[in-house]
This record gives sequence, structure tokens and C-alpha cells, in this order.
Amino acid sequence: MKCPQCGSDWIAEILYGFPDFNNEQFQQDHASGKIALGGCVVMEGVEQPTRRCNDCNHEWYVAADSPDSSDSQAGSPPMQSK
Ligand SMILES: [Zn+2]
Repeated sequence: MKCPQCGSDWIAEILYGFPDFNNEQFQQDHASGKIALGGCVVMEGVEQPTRRCNDCNHEWYVAADSPDSSDSQAGSPPMQSK
């Protein structure tokens, strides 16, 4: 997935609600720019942006069932690493 505005592939997934700030995985993902916070108010019926570009701060909406969201599991068999 790339930013539709600048073409960067450094994209963060925007989370809504209250994340677990003490969660180690959250801290790592947030620090590395993999996730961003969209605020704690969730508006129903509105397509809020779900991705944010870390380079140009452009935000856009990606449907949950978008093929782009499944590329992390392509080519690798499901394994339980934990
Ligand atoms: Zn961008």
C-alpha cells in the first residue's frame, strides 16, 4: 500500500478509541509509525480515514476488506510464533 498523494509506503494504520498505552506492541508500532491515533470519538456512518502517510500526513479511508490489507499474509503460511 502506498500513499495516494506522495507515493510513500511508510503508512500508518489509524486506530480509534482508547488503545492500551502500556502495551509493548502498541508502543513499538506507534514509535515506528505503523499506527497512528485517530482520536477517541468514533462517528458512526462516516468514513473516517483509516490510513495516514507518515511523510506528508495525508489521511485516507481504506475499506477493511480491501485486498491491500491482506498482503501481510500473502506467501507465508500461518504459523504460531508466540
Ligand atoms: Zn504521503
